[in-house]
Amino acid sequence: MKIRKKTLTTAFGIPVADDQNSLTAGPRGPVLMQDVHLLEKLAHFDRERIPERVVHAKGAGAFGYFEATTNVTRYTKARFLSEVGKRTDLFVRFSTVGGEKGSADSARDPRGFAVKFYTEEGNYDLVGNNTPVFFIRDPLKFPDFIHTQKRNPATNLPDPNMFWDFLSLTPESIHQVTILFSDRGTPATYRHMNGYSSHTFKWYNARGEYFWVQYHFKTDQGIRNLTREEAKRLAGEDPDHATRDLFNSIENEDYPSWTLEVQILTPEQARDFRWDIFDITKVWPHAEVPPIQIGKMVLNRNPRNYFADVEQAAFCPGNVVPGIGLSPDKMLQGRVFSYHDTHLHRLGPNYHLIPVNAPRHAPENSYQRDGFMRVDANGEGGPNYWPNSFGGAAPVTGDSEPPFDLSGQAGRHPASHPNDDFEQAGVLFRKVMTDVDRDHLIGNIVDHLGKAQERIQLRQTALFYKADPEYGRRVAEGLKLDIGKVKALAGMSQEERTEATLAVRVPESA
Ligand code: NDP
Repeated sequence: MKIRKKTLTTAFGIPVADDQNSLTAGPRGPVLMQDVHLLEKLAHFDRERIPERVVHAKGAGAFGYFEATTNVTRYTKARFLSEVGKRTDLFVRFSTVGGEKGSADSARDPRGFAVKFYTEEGNYDLVGNNTPVFFIRDPLKFPDFIHTQKRNPATNLPDPNMFWDFLSLTPESIHQVTILFSDRGTPATYRHMNGYSSHTFKWYNARGEYFWVQYHFKTDQGIRNLTREEAKRLAGEDPDHATRDLFNSIENEDYPSWTLEVQILTPEQARDFRWDIFDITKVWPHAEVPPIQIGKMVLNRNPRNYFADVEQAAFCPGNVVPGIGLSPDKMLQGRVFSYHDTHLHRLGPNYHLIPVNAPRHAPENSYQRDGFMRVDANGEGGPNYWPNSFGGAAPVTGDSEPPFDLSGQAGRHPASHPNDDFEQAGVLFRKVMTDVDRDHLIGNIVDHLGKAQERIQLRQTALFYKADPEYGRRVAEGLKLDIGKVKALAGMSQEERTEATLAVRVPESA
């Protein structure tokens, strides 16, 4: 069979006769300004990169589907969950968090686990991580936290002092730090890890009754993690190992899948619950809120172009469909702003038109018009305002979230239960981890925290001690710290501990 060659053209469809020799005055140049093809080619090349994501810069993605396996209509009226057997197309992006676009997939870091369901009621984004909790519970702390995970402003190097200084001054991080420094902080691949909503979300049914839910995507491949040594070796030998693994497994038709479970609390149960269900540093213990299986997610198609589908993929936790609502979780509320805002900056005001982000199974009928890169028909000649009497799209009355109560004094309220911050980390250390898990956890912490200043090591080890004395004692032993000093710091209030471990003291007279 003869392959018919396509004609090379400029971006505007004009045939190109020569793509190897620039237009020059004589065989040795110089190049003429009127080589429009060359100018167009160089100018476009100069603009190939879009801003890197501030977080989650390195990632991999795939398409697939979700299949509902349980009837949950008594909890939510979301149509994609309305029938057993119903399938919904989706796109998933996995990522590391702190590293740049070229950084190693094996880095010790949480993994992003972002799912976009293309439902018939619009796109539903569930933008989670591979950990059920997070380091902080107030979005005001987020930029500072991320600065400490990135590079020192002077040296442009990752900085263990910044990293541990912030965490040791932020005790609410202890639960997530314990997960991060277990081997779950270095998953073997993206296929061998769970995904969690981490936040609490609201579900409401057709009768307007509501429930609080947390999502858990449990990997059907089984959990597999890297040891510290394996992770370090892979960072050098194959920094893209998880990206490669995901692509190859789908290419080889070995489709990865996850079972979706949810934990559900009624408002009455939530009221009496011993944990603040809107505090993202806490889980809901399984024994108290047993997870129920509701569906399966399968990834079975690789993107045909990485930039088009993965680099330009844009998720926002605020994109919820009827039947699903947000919760008062402060971090969630902050993310609802920050994700959309980031995409406006990275991709422009019309990022919702990029195919991977556009609704696939629902029409988009908004009155938003114009702006950079408006590449569709821009509403043609239809009305661009509401209300109108020219047949423009109208709101669906009765489809909105039922009204809900809010109360309380406006103020900058600290968490009301700070002493609980250590309990779940302690349970994880004592009851969930095996002996091997604990050995690796201690080794991983000592390896990393050992690079920070001693006063920071002491402050952080005091937090481990508060989670569990054995945990603190073993880290202190590994770091050769004076356990007496660790115990003394653990017995202090947060303010006293900070004061006792300052690097720079401001003179009284200042
Ligand atoms: P359970 O014993 O019912 O559940 C423990 C959970 O811990 C399991 O889901 C297990 O996940 C997970 N796990 C096992 N090893 C690790 C590890 N090294 N790092 C992080 N998670 C791990 O206990 P509870 O529900 O009472 O929770 C106890 C503690 O378990 C919590 O304080 C929390 O730290 C952790 N956990 C709890 C989760 C929850 O939603 N309740 C979710 C994840 C962790 P798997 O089944 O995949 O092995």
